[in-house]
Amino acid sequence: MLPTIQTVGVMPVVVQKYGGSSVADPDRLEAVADRVRDTRASGNEVVVVVSAMGETTDQLVELAAQVSSQPHPREMDMLLTAGERITMALLAMALNERGVPAVSYTGSQAGILTDSAHGGARITRITGERVTASLGEGKVVIVAGFQGVDPQRREVTTLGRGGSDTTAVALAATLGASSCEVLTDVDGVFTADPRVVPAARKLEAIGYADMLELARAGAGVLMPHSVEYARDHEVLVHVRSSFHHEPGTMVGGDSEDAQLAGLAHANLGDVGVITLVGADADENAERAMRILGESGIESSEGGSAARMARIEVEASSLDVAVRLVHDRLLGMEASL
Ligand code: ASP
Ligand code: MG
Repeated sequence: MLPTIQTVGVMPVVVQKYGGSSVADPDRLEAVADRVRDTRASGNEVVVVVSAMGETTDQLVELAAQVSSQPHPREMDMLLTAGERITMALLAMALNERGVPAVSYTGSQAGILTDSAHGGARITRITGERVTASLGEGKVVIVAGFQGVDPQRREVTTLGRGGSDTTAVALAATLGASSCEVLTDVDGVFTADPRVVPAARKLEAIGYADMLELARAGAGVLMPHSVEYARDHEVLVHVRSSFHHEPGTMVGGDSEDAQLAGLAHANLGDVGVITLVGADADENAERAMRILGESGIESSEGGSAARMARIEVEASSLDVAVRLVHDRLLGMEASL
């Protein structure tokens, strides 16, 4: 367990993480600055964690590939951490422009200490001295997501793709934040990927265990490690849209719901995997296989665990299969 560090102020601390698409261009950054300003104005100390703008990280990965077939992991981390650094400085400027005092810190400056595993480092401790000092001065603190520093070797590290979610959860745990919001381009956690399943529904809440299974099975909304971290430190995470103010999905607590929570899918190239998550996942997987069979789609069992069962289909029929299974087991039709 990380020790909680005492924050100086009396106001509640809110941690808000904004993903790449939420800060993709100057207009989006301005919208985020407005939202942060409003959160502060309603009586909170605000710590903002940012991702790199839009597809920046992918572009940096491609750039590296153009000059090296096997880039050194240390240099890769030096390169990739630059993405978040751009966002954090621009957001600080946009906030200052609004009369909101703000300061940006890299992971290293924020005291996010990690082990030495370049490209997939784990946070070991957050000292956060400069973060709390700046909050104490009434500033909004912006922290670059997805990065830290290995104090032994004094090297910059990254936490793995999608790692800004973990930065946010870890900061929320350390600061004893009253709220940890992950703001993204979807409305929350859905019963299936809404881009593939039009009838997918937003969940109001989901327990850590079920969220972790969905994340591991390919639901991109939260990085799996951030969910483990939230579970271990009991951080309640509100996954919601940065594009409007409707509430999203609360991630927290035990997964005890007596229903199937949702399903995730992944196309592994040679095979498509559908993962059913929630109560009676095994029985539901059997039902799903029967439903698929009736529609002429072959499927096979792909293993199961508590509150999780996988079925495999041919990759080319994956999308159709996901829609069918979802709509029959979790769609409106299922609840009639
Ligand atoms: N920018 C990094 C990525 O694209 C980290 C993150 O967005 O969470 O993976
Ligand atoms: Mg992400």
